[in-house]
Amino acid sequence: MRKVSIFGATGSIGQNTLDLISRSPDAYDVVALTGGGNIAQLAQDAVRVGADVAVTAFDDKLDDLRTALAGSGVQAAAGQAALIEAAARPADWVMSAIVGAAGLAPGIEALKQGVTLALANKETLVCAGPLVLNTARAHNARLLPVDSEHSAVFQALVGEDMTSVERIIITASGGAFRDWPLSDLATATVEQASSHPNWDMGQRITIDSASMFNKALEVIETKEYFGVRPSDIEVLVHPESIVHALVGFRDGALMAHLGAPDMRHAIGYALHWPDRRDLPVARLDLARMGQLRFHAPDEARYPALRLAREVMQRGGLSGAIFNGAKERALDHFIARRIRFLDMADAVSAVLERFEAADGLIDAPLTLDNVQQTDHLARQWVDETVLERAG
Ligand code: NAD
Ligand code: MG
Repeated sequence: MRKVSIFGATGSIGQNTLDLISRSPDAYDVVALTGGGNIAQLAQDAVRVGADVAVTAFDDKLDDLRTALAGSGVQAAAGQAALIEAAARPADWVMSAIVGAAGLAPGIEALKQGVTLALANKETLVCAGPLVLNTARAHNARLLPVDSEHSAVFQALVGEDMTSVERIIITASGGAFRDWPLSDLATATVEQASSHPNWDMGQRITIDSASMFNKALEVIETKEYFGVRPSDIEVLVHPESIVHALVGFRDGALMAHLGAPDMRHAIGYALHWPDRRDLPVARLDLARMGQLRFHAPDEARYPALRLAREVMQRGGLSGAIFNGAKERALDHFIARRIRFLDMADAVSAVLERFEAADGLIDAPLTLDNVQQTDHLARQWVDETVLERAG
């Protein structure tokens, strides 16, 4: 039996992961499940799969979790230290599916145990790519991509040599507003931004898809994971979300990965890698689909993509400042304190301030520095938002 843990088990990726492992209960021994505020879901799943421990990230939810797990034999724990403790428990395979920079520290702790880390949490690589890869190397751990585009690239690269790769193209659906006139984006609401045309995902990544901040994070994730030059990474808008990524080789060949927009594809690939197993996903009927469309993204519509290029140029801690600012701007948008387009303006302002602040950007890439930078980014976004409101 493989020992598995799922960080962010109550979320969209976490639930899809549980769906897959629950289909072969004899194959998996569940060590830890973690969640946030949805205690009922966390407890129910932990009992159903017989986890050793269930952890909520929030200290004040411990009593609720204890009550929900009473008599079940599943241990209850809460808070940051408990998350790290759960990550330190021996496991073979760990799903990293917490949303946001909060996923970084548990992921690093799991890597230190030499696990195979299935990485849905793209923020981990955006904030601390070299640190994470070095940690994996030092502890003989393995990182497998779960983001659909990166899984697609990973699959297109099987048997290939990176020296023959010329470019990597990741696709984007264009999100909720891809067909909206640019002038209407200023007044786009949270509800409008929270509905995705093709994918069923958590609210935050869905809004990030509408603003292309998700794709911006993914471009940086591509650079970090595959070690390619920023200029060799392209984004292509593809409204059908069927081709997830393409790899271009030096002989001009393009290898594409196609699949239904269902995250169980990428999760299942990481779960069974290097094998392929049956997965309960829809099979494509290309003849019925008839056509697949592609076009270049409009940078005026999606300033996040330009910001991602700046971040890749700078490197170091700029990924952490970018992601932290993005997360906090998104909090303000969801709380209706700022408007849709203000998010990119706020992130851009914080990046500029970071560039100008002496020495900050060149501090070494340690977990402490990343977390402090993340904190600073959020504080600066708050200041920017307050300033503009007043
Ligand atoms: P989600 O919002 O549905 O779930 C997030 C999970 O993280 C939940 O279990 C939640 O309880 C937990 N969580 C939230 N805040 C936390 C905190 N501060 N500390 C600890 N745990 C916390 O998110 P999701 O859509 O499943 O996305 C998870 C990750 O996977 C994100 O990094 C996202 O970018 C990435 N991803 C998601 C999809 C998708 O289809 N949903 C696709 C590709 C990549
Ligand atoms: Mg993706």
